[in-house]
Amino acid sequence: MQNSKLFINGKWVEAQHKEYMNVISPVSGKSLGKVSKAAAADVKKAVEAAKMAEEKWRFSHHTERSKLLYKVAKIMEDRLEEFARHVCLEQGKPISDARIEIQGCVDYFKGTAEDIKRLETAVIPSVDPNKRVFTMREPLGVFGVITPWNFPFDIPCFILSSALAAGNSVVFKPAEQTPLCGAKIVECLDQAGFPPGVVNLVQGPGETTGEAMSSSEDIDAIAFTGSIETGRKIAANAGSTIKTLLFELGGNGPIMILDDANLAKAIEGVSISCFMNSGQVCNSGERILVAESIHDRLVKGVTESASKLKLGNPLQEDTNMGPLIDESLAQKVDKHISDAKRLGAKVEFGGKRAKGFPTDLYYMPTILSNVTPRMLISREETFGPVCPILKCCSVDEMLKIANSTEYGLMSSVYCSNMRDAFYVAERIKTGTVAINTPSIYWEGRLPWGGMNKSGIGRQGGIYSLLAMTQLKTVIMDVTSS
Ligand code: ADP
Repeated sequence: MQNSKLFINGKWVEAQHKEYMNVISPVSGKSLGKVSKAAAADVKKAVEAAKMAEEKWRFSHHTERSKLLYKVAKIMEDRLEEFARHVCLEQGKPISDARIEIQGCVDYFKGTAEDIKRLETAVIPSVDPNKRVFTMREPLGVFGVITPWNFPFDIPCFILSSALAAGNSVVFKPAEQTPLCGAKIVECLDQAGFPPGVVNLVQGPGETTGEAMSSSEDIDAIAFTGSIETGRKIAANAGSTIKTLLFELGGNGPIMILDDANLAKAIEGVSISCFMNSGQVCNSGERILVAESIHDRLVKGVTESASKLKLGNPLQEDTNMGPLIDESLAQKVDKHISDAKRLGAKVEFGGKRAKGFPTDLYYMPTILSNVTPRMLISREETFGPVCPILKCCSVDEMLKIANSTEYGLMSSVYCSNMRDAFYVAERIKTGTVAINTPSIYWEGRLPWGGMNKSGIGRQGGIYSLLAMTQLKTVIMDVTSS
């Protein structure tokens, strides 16, 4: 059993009301431990500590920050296998993917440790010959970091590494489903030696702990990854307290397969994009739009591929898919599949929860054909291991369906003719478009974010540093006084 506290002003402390959250593994259904649950008063203390620490931390030299970030990377690297095994148990992804996730975090800390040394600003020509003008980049202040459970190490580290590199102090709230992962990240930051108050950890549900953060007058900016619905609530509070927002709010990823696509490559790309992390990825393939002429072969190919996936204990090396995170998500997947069936979709494979596992959260990889745009599964983000296939007559029809959503995070197009690839790339309304590449393709240094309601701003490498700092303009008179 692993129990964990809050981390405020450089100390691990119990929450004021001594309330706890029980952490249940989706893999076994058993408790992994309990975590202190922060009340609004605990959040207030964390924010005060962050505000106080930020006054000094903002003047720390970037080489000092860089050294601390390298230390974090080293500490994480040394604990990589332990952390990966923990991710399997708390979140449920297969061990091979969990190792990649932790290595990715090590790379974020190393990457930002270098990027911060190269953050340049400009000298701007003035209209006045007696003036010199230049800009400086300064931190935003206290950053609230609110993260989801599907990449419980990756997403927090992606954000925290840049927020800290940029000289902000942070109040971090991990998802209530994966609080122990959040605590392990903070253990590494603590051990690396950030000054007290620069890093603070509060744990608890969104409606209480998260709300206390978004409504705090002393949090200057919020980086949030999660649902549009929650994004709206955070933005409403941030609106009245005037905060900078950096949001990634999920997607409804279209994968468009044109009639001249390399079919083997498309089948592989669709399978990876729909089933990685059991479909619990913001940039999963959520709607597969296929040209009529190759539709049947594509359906056959992805069905064969799904039938070969091994669903099971994520700690076993050959497992491809673990359980879903919790019952509420499993019920949403049930609902989307039953709605699709009712409206005429055909289950080519799966379509239900698997039997014989320790919890009811192991969902079969599912292939649906005859899917139409009006089904729930097309309109909403399912976030489960489902591959909904829609037959299309033309590229323009694909684009029309692909863009008929409030989301706009990531898309993918498979075709041989690069003129068509560009035609689609220029018209698709997503922050990233992958050509002949799975929609789950990820490089942490590329600009990442959504169009439409899928987010606000861009993150990744230097783009995060730009988003997490603000420009100060300095105007200097050069005539002698
Ligand atoms: P998901 O549906 O993936 O769980 P959510 O948007 O509900 O996504 O949650 C993502 C993160 O947002 C979690 O850390 C959660 O606790 C937090 N959260 C949920 N509701 C709120 C809220 N009203 N205010 C602030 N944070 C919230």
